[in-house]
Amino acid sequence: MTATRTALAWEYSPAPEATDHIRLGERYELFVDGAWRPPESGAYEPTINPATEEPLAEIAQAGAADVEAAVAAAREALPRWRRLPALERGKYVFRIARLIQERARELAIVESLDGGKPIRESRDVDVPLAAAHFFYYAGWADKLRYGLAGRAVEPMGVVGQIVPWNFPLLMAAWKLAPALACGNTAVLKPAETTPLTALLLAEICQEAELPAGVVNILPGDGSTGAALVRHPGIDKIAFTGSTEVGKDIQAATAGRDIGLTLELGGKSANIVFDDAALDQAVEGIVNGIFFNQGHVCCAGSRLLLQESVADEVIEKLWRRMGLLRVGDPLDKNTDVGAINSAEQLQRIEALVDAGEREGATRRTVACRLPDRGYWFAPTLFTDVAPVNRIAVEEIFGPVVSVMTFRTQAEAVEKANATAYGLAAGVWTDKGSRALAVARGLKAGTIWQNTYNQFDPTSPFGGYKESGFGREGGAAGLRPYVRVS
Ligand code: NAD
Repeated sequence: MTATRTALAWEYSPAPEATDHIRLGERYELFVDGAWRPPESGAYEPTINPATEEPLAEIAQAGAADVEAAVAAAREALPRWRRLPALERGKYVFRIARLIQERARELAIVESLDGGKPIRESRDVDVPLAAAHFFYYAGWADKLRYGLAGRAVEPMGVVGQIVPWNFPLLMAAWKLAPALACGNTAVLKPAETTPLTALLLAEICQEAELPAGVVNILPGDGSTGAALVRHPGIDKIAFTGSTEVGKDIQAATAGRDIGLTLELGGKSANIVFDDAALDQAVEGIVNGIFFNQGHVCCAGSRLLLQESVADEVIEKLWRRMGLLRVGDPLDKNTDVGAINSAEQLQRIEALVDAGEREGATRRTVACRLPDRGYWFAPTLFTDVAPVNRIAVEEIFGPVVSVMTFRTQAEAVEKANATAYGLAAGVWTDKGSRALAVARGLKAGTIWQNTYNQFDPTSPFGGYKESGFGREGGAAGLRPYVRVS
């Protein structure tokens, strides 16, 4: 059964972010050895704006020969970079942070154009957090021993880094900042649908006068990533993306003396107890699942409500969902932007159809969606059985599946009944309950009375099929060094 709600007619005047100062190139090449070069194969693909389906620029596609050249450049740059006094290395990382801040407005707009996320989020979350990661790890460069229990450390060497499309610049920052601070050189592959901000980051590396070859950026598709993973000159792979590709990478690197961190998918539980401040919890639920259109690895996509307050929370949530503004990502009032790609939209639609077929009750906000582009209106499922696909599989879209529980023990059991283990939220007035529940949960990050809070000082990563290794904080140094 499908129910819809017409979004409340709160008319805002359009508040579009100005884009006339943004000068995108018609074509972007590969960034190898400190310079721009065309791909060996001569292949280019357009990157498009998912809100309009219009092409933004032509992007060079790196093949195996380009991977070879980038790894060779990174290898050649390694001895000088690792021997640089740590304080000097830190200054480069610091400079990158400053340049991100200087170009923050441009980066935010390009992130929203290329990926479809609301400008409010790219401006207030993605870009400031990306700068914060570089600032944070710049500070670690000459203090690595203190971060690693006083042990002597060496960089891993040449690192291969592969990132997804949901936080393109931020994920590049999570990868590059600790790698550089620890004295590694890097070859980074952005995702096929969102290469632009990584390429602007390459420009920033040039502006920062980072020595040639220390950072190489190779746009391309899965085959580029696969070539990077399989290259024998790579000493460590850091991957963020789907569990399926993570498993492929783990198999491809088996038996090699290589460092590996995998930041994979999730199906995180957001648990609301009956003693929680319910209006506050509703805001957290909205932030947990509709932030970045639900394209968030740790999205609170399974909402677990204590039975005694379930109806009240669902009613409040549904009312709040009707106030969400869906549309132009560059409008400063927009809450939910465009779905990242046609392919991702199809995946969301297929899972939502499965939810209906399997008997869950669907409610979708009946908001007016733009004629062009990829859109999916905020959606809520109730009457969800734990075995339904919408309760088990990562939807990676603005869709929340609601289930209920009676006791604390049942909440923990249901929250843990997943193949993933990335994050969870606990909403309760009692600190003791929050701590007891957190101890029972198998999840890398657990938020109490909040959701989707990120900070460079705080480690992030998963258990089970959400992967292994931590990024962020002192723990995020460990994958980038060999300790003796
Ligand atoms: P994806 O796995 O399809 O792609 C991720 C990256 O891997 C892309 O750059 C892609 O080109 C590359 N790739 C594809 N096939 C490859 C292969 N065989 N070898 C090497 N590289 C390959 O994932 P996606 O659809 O871009 O991103 C969404 C997924 O990422 C979701 O599952 C989400 O949960 C996950 N994610 C996890 C985190 C985290 O920190 N745990 C953060 C963000 C996203």
